[in-house]
Amino acid sequence: MFDNSIGVAIVIQQPLSVVIIGGGAAGMSAAVAARRGAESASVECFITLLERNARPGTKIRISGGGKCNVTHQGTPAEILEQGFLRKNERRFLRNALYGFSNTDLLELLHSRGVETEVRPDGKVFPLSGDASSVAVAFEELLKELSVKIISSCRVRNVELKDGMFLITAAAEPLAADVVILATGGVSYSKTGTTGDGLIIARKLGHSIKESSAALAPVYTLKAPPASLSGISLRSAGLVASAGGKTAERRGDLLFTHRGFSGPAALSLSRDIAGLCREFGSASLFADLFPEHTPAELDQLLLQHARRHGAQMVRKFLQICPIAPLKKGLSEAPQGTIPTALVPFIIRHALLEIDITWSTLQKEQRHSLLTVLKRFPLGAVRSVPIDQGEVSAGGVDLGEVNPKTMQSRIVPNLFICGELLDYAGEIGGYNLQAAFSTGWTAGTSALKKA
Ligand SMILES: Cc1cc2nc3c(=O)[nH]c(=O)nc-3n(C[C@H](O)[C@H](O)[C@H](O)COP(=O)(O)OP(=O)(O)OC[C@H]3O[C@@H](n4cnc5c(N)ncnc54)[C@H](O)[C@@H]3O)c2cc1C
Repeated sequence: MFDNSIGVAIVIQQPLSVVIIGGGAAGMSAAVAARRGAESASVECFITLLERNARPGTKIRISGGGKCNVTHQGTPAEILEQGFLRKNERRFLRNALYGFSNTDLLELLHSRGVETEVRPDGKVFPLSGDASSVAVAFEELLKELSVKIISSCRVRNVELKDGMFLITAAAEPLAADVVILATGGVSYSKTGTTGDGLIIARKLGHSIKESSAALAPVYTLKAPPASLSGISLRSAGLVASAGGKTAERRGDLLFTHRGFSGPAALSLSRDIAGLCREFGSASLFADLFPEHTPAELDQLLLQHARRHGAQMVRKFLQICPIAPLKKGLSEAPQGTIPTALVPFIIRHALLEIDITWSTLQKEQRHSLLTVLKRFPLGAVRSVPIDQGEVSAGGVDLGEVNPKTMQSRIVPNLFICGELLDYAGEIGGYNLQAAFSTGWTAGTSALKKA
């Protein structure tokens, strides 16, 4: 007898057939947890994992630039707080991240010989610097646990017939008592994530939140000037605005030949995509003094002008820290304004290139201030979804029980990983969420009522 968490206890004949669709972090974690659950509940079961690629774990192998930022250091509460900016996502992921935490994941990896290191910023990587070691550890564990892996097998359809699932991939449909759907998001589609799971979930009765880009580079309609390509603004503010709405992020911002990347742009890309969807386009600005209000910055510039009247404004900008603390300009926590950017600041502020502080008029100071607080970066019309490290959107979280990952609509259907409507920040949070939700699904699928 199994608890389907929607009120009905279902009697299922043993051996039970559990089919996991998708062999990414979530699917493989679900398979391990299901086998362990079956063993501890003394349930006889066949566990089959269907993966459309030649091997499971494709995305793990390319993650973190081939080094795999597998999780983040901290308590589950800290992981939730730093890794997931939206309240509903934090609420949904809470159980899973406590149930199978970063510590649990690392213990599992260490037990399989994958040693890890914590970087100063809290990101955790395999010590070997080899992302495939994580995928291989899971793959080998699955084989030891007698999970049948069927690769190069693309599932096309899942339907319910007489209380069983019928899964269509190749010629003969496969029957299953329990299905765990773990087909991932829709970005990096060349890795196999083309949204099949969304179609399957919708056909089974689930609502799907529209997919959208996240953790993606941002391309502006007009590319930044070539001389700026490659420069980085350390710890700047990135602001996107459209239709009276704004969204912003603090972090390093990288100018590329097509627009912007780096942590600030990647993190804000989901909001930028949202603004573009709502208003057709969004304007981007850099805030070089995110710690200061315009009035505070005006005071700072005024003080500086009084003390350094003979200095050229351009010279000042060349040594000016980005995001200085409120204490003063000498407090530079991160870096200085890149020299290549200075002529553009001067030009946008409509100043002469050799103007000195003593000759700078009040309006000119205000104009400089405006540019330092809102350096225009250009307009964006859309964010490329396929280039995001993850995609936002997916199966509606309200239709999945966060304690079990079981569908609230279809008994014995479990949904986990990036297929669900959440998206984490850069830092190992997305893999951790996939492993945790997968583990929860696998454990719950085999839990006795
Ligand atoms: C370039 C890149 C770098 C990244 N780096 C990091 C990082 O360092 N740290 C981090 O935390 N996150 C990172 N991510 C995000 C992270 O990899 C994903 O969020 C995570 O892998 C999602 O796991 P998942 O199991 O839900 O989905 P996936 O890993 O995408 O797995 C889904 C699997 O389902 C299979 N599948 C799909 N449809 C079918 C079907 N019809 N039939 C059978 N199989 C199917 C796919 O082939 C795929 O193998 C990165 C992503 C990318 C693209």
